Amino acid sequence: MTTSTTYDLIIAGAGPVGLLSALLASQSGLRTLVLEKRAEHIRHSRSIGIHPPSLQILSRAGILPRFLEHGVQINRGHAKTDRYTDLGVLDLTDADTPFPYILTHPQWKTESLLEAATSRSDTVQLLRNHTITGIDNPVDKDAMATVAARTEVGDIKSFRTQFIMACDGKQSKTRTLAGIGYYGKPYALRYAMGDFTDNTGYGSDAVIFLTRHGLIESFPLSATMRRWVVQQERNPTILHIEALANEIQRRCGLEPDPGQCRMFSEFGVERYHAGCFWHHRVILAGDSAHVVSPIGGQGMNLGWLNACDAISGISEIIHHQKRIDKEADAYNITVHRRVRKVIRRAEFNMMLGSHFALPAMRNQLVKLLLASPIRNTLRKRITMQGL
Ligand SMILES: Cc1cc2nc3c(=O)[nH]c(=O)nc-3n(C[C@H](O)[C@H](O)[C@H](O)COP(=O)(O)OP(=O)(O)OC[C@H]3O[C@@H](n4cnc5c(N)ncnc54)[C@H](O)[C@@H]3O)c2cc1C
Repeated sequence: MTTSTTYDLIIAGAGPVGLLSALLASQSGLRTLVLEKRAEHIRHSRSIGIHPPSLQILSRAGILPRFLEHGVQINRGHAKTDRYTDLGVLDLTDADTPFPYILTHPQWKTESLLEAATSRSDTVQLLRNHTITGIDNPVDKDAMATVAARTEVGDIKSFRTQFIMACDGKQSKTRTLAGIGYYGKPYALRYAMGDFTDNTGYGSDAVIFLTRHGLIESFPLSATMRRWVVQQERNPTILHIEALANEIQRRCGLEPDPGQCRMFSEFGVERYHAGCFWHHRVILAGDSAHVVSPIGGQGMNLGWLNACDAISGISEIIHHQKRIDKEADAYNITVHRRVRKVIRRAEFNMMLGSHFALPAMRNQLVKLLLASPIRNTLRKRITMQGL
């Protein structure tokens, strides 16, 4: 084992939350090391929606223009029962925010842009093929921590740091090493998802179909591609691309071409959160801190909001000698409140799209809501305001 430089911050994991944290840390002048076990990004598409509060963070960090070059701005969302029957439209451009739209941008591209921006920093180093295996003193607020990482060839290297940010995902090793619990459960619902060539004519609009057989969400991915997310019925039958395309056709009358599908996945949804988000020298952000249902697409965005607060807290301690416990308390309170809200919002989205005993009555209610001032509350929730 070798001990080398001492860092202000070690970030475990170079997913979207670790990489944004690294960029913000560099802009706050923190000497930062990112340790990532993978040699490269996962190309499988997960998150696509970047919401207004995150757009503000990217704008402040000076990298929003790069995202706008590659992403699609969703300005409107339609609610329908099928391709012919409208329930209403939600205009996001009326949202009370400097960036009143949701940008779709595939997660792997988001990670590439963040990594490129981080690589231009003098104060951040990213080491890939480094798997964190151990931490000494993770929860001793009076001593520095030492992080051990295994390299590709099996060597163990160690690094000293003031703080460790656990951005190493749902199965976070860092969280386990710090002895922080993780609580939650899977929901009974399952979904199938596919990215198809867009033949709908909906352009950059999002569409939610509230059908009697369950929810369908449809989002633009680029000028030519569209993502479809389809709620499974009680016994999942959508287990391959053709079944997904057939089900979209059966429920809403649109026919994505299975031969033009670039990605398919079938997944369950769950909710989890850590017992504590900042414990002495270990701070959790992203999926290591919370997992929310992707219906409504807010998990990564929630991670980014929290990461932004974490970096500002660490920066206050390092540069302005603020007390660790004061920053930790503030972070724990804010993150806990946000996670609860986002979990509730995601559960509402899932409930709305579920198999109602009386789908016609549900649809009439949605129609009324979208035509009434309550649509402002829906818009706030969808655009992640008030967090
Ligand atoms: C189908 C689907 C759709 C989604 N859509 C959206 C959406 O539209 N909007 C949204 O906001 N969210 C969405 N999400 C959620 C989003 O994908 C996650 O919240 C996001 O990936 C979390 O990022 P992260 O950086 O915290 O963790 P991860 O992306 O899991 O990254 C963790 C990183 O840590 C590394 N790592 C793990 N262990 C170690 C170790 N011991 N040492 C070093 N490195 C390690 C991993 O290799 C990985 O690179 C979606 C999720 C799914 C499944």
